[in-house]
Amino acid sequence: MTSLLLHNANVVTMAGDGLEADAVAVSDGKIVAVGSAGEAASALGSEANRFDCEGGVLLPAFIDAHCHLLSYAASLLAVDCGTAISIAEIQDAIRQRARRTPAGSWIRALGYEETQLAEGRHPTAVDLDVATLEHPVRLIHGSGHVRVLNSLALSIAGIDGGTEEPAGGIIERDLNTGEPNGVLIGMERLVDRAVPNLAYEELSDAVRQACGRFLIAGITTIQDATHTNGLSEWALFQRLMADGSLTLDVIMMEGSGHLGELPESALDGQLVRGPVKVMLHELENTEPDAGEVAAMAQAVQAGHAAGRQLAIHAIGEQAVVRVVEALEAALQRSPRDDHRHRIEHCSVLPDGMAARIAKLGVTVVSQPAFIRARGDRYLKLLAGTQLERLYAFRTLSEAGVALAAGSDAPVTQPEPLASVAVAMDRATASGVAIGPTQAVNTLEALRWWTSGAARAAFLEATRGSLRPGAAADLVLLPKDTLSASPEELRTYAPVCVWRRGEQGFPDSR
Ligand SMILES: [Zn+2]
Repeated sequence: MTSLLLHNANVVTMAGDGLEADAVAVSDGKIVAVGSAGEAASALGSEANRFDCEGGVLLPAFIDAHCHLLSYAASLLAVDCGTAISIAEIQDAIRQRARRTPAGSWIRALGYEETQLAEGRHPTAVDLDVATLEHPVRLIHGSGHVRVLNSLALSIAGIDGGTEEPAGGIIERDLNTGEPNGVLIGMERLVDRAVPNLAYEELSDAVRQACGRFLIAGITTIQDATHTNGLSEWALFQRLMADGSLTLDVIMMEGSGHLGELPESALDGQLVRGPVKVMLHELENTEPDAGEVAAMAQAVQAGHAAGRQLAIHAIGEQAVVRVVEALEAALQRSPRDDHRHRIEHCSVLPDGMAARIAKLGVTVVSQPAFIRARGDRYLKLLAGTQLERLYAFRTLSEAGVALAAGSDAPVTQPEPLASVAVAMDRATASGVAIGPTQAVNTLEALRWWTSGAARAAFLEATRGSLRPGAAADLVLLPKDTLSASPEELRTYAPVCVWRRGEQGFPDSR
């Protein structure tokens, strides 16, 4: 039995107990005491290892309440176009990758933001053909919801002038010929099935890298919110865990189309079934399609009737209204205490909605980092009144809505401290503060990444707070973290992380 005494720390328990402590005692992967160094030491034998935290802030390890592990892992292998400021730059990056990719193999590229491009538009198939004619190319927009294919990829995917648009999807067309121009909006399902899966070896390597990134950022537990998750993803995650590639704890949401497929847990609880993920497909800044709304409401009814927790995707103002209505209807039909249903993103908060969400007892799981990553886009696309209600965290928390945070990786990097900085200053990449009255303080935003995220997945007995009996998952942050300005916080990184009392990445000391 290994035991460890973490001492000389500024312990923030996140347990809501107001406890002031400077040490945590760990034994056999669990916390056995939190208190003064003397109190903590007396819970352990004299052979316990000691770790001097040198006055740093010791917190429960972070929990990413909403991310997509496999897409994030795959994104690490893709051509990164996140910083491109012109179509020529995207062409260059793809051309370089093409040089070391066998002809005929897919090139996956992602992350561009058309509002950042000099041309101010999406690249088209013709643009991508300039980079390569020999490789099918799939370029994914930073939002994840627009795909651009080159000509070869369009023909492999079977998308031509005669292809019908699926509900909620748009095939952009050349105004003269009527042929698809390569820009495909809201058509992930149709496009992605044409792109072969990564070979297992490639994928497991990428997952290993991804886990490293999560751990280095202080995250030991993730909630995978992929709406297509079912038994085959469960089996894949189990395999990745069994061979040591996947070293995080995973709460896997179950796609509403796979309701009832997943077992409750596997591998001693390293993999746990989470809420049912319900999508409401919506196009940016438009009213969601009536058929999509009906399908969402039906999935909400079915999941709620099955006694399950729900996590429902809603970004735009109208989508949030429809989701709240669906939840109200489901709860009216069969009221249930402590259902912990959640709205994922809740990006634009309609007037009067915070009180309704609070009354329902629904948690909002959101992504502060979107303000930085996508804020300049919002500034161009949203009207003033919508901007004021964008990521309205203070309004939500003052109304009594429980909040939790995630990265939505690969949409943003899984970096809780960077996310906390954005929650504090609300600054876009270009430095404009969006809705500064919605800012919160460091501790509140840290809570969304710890106790808030734990509660959002019924994990509070073992995760998200430091108390005896909880898992010894901890993160040590620099001394001044709680008083640092947002600018300073952006330069901070965890000093050390422990998962079940084991150091997750080597400390340099
Ligand atoms: Zn997501």
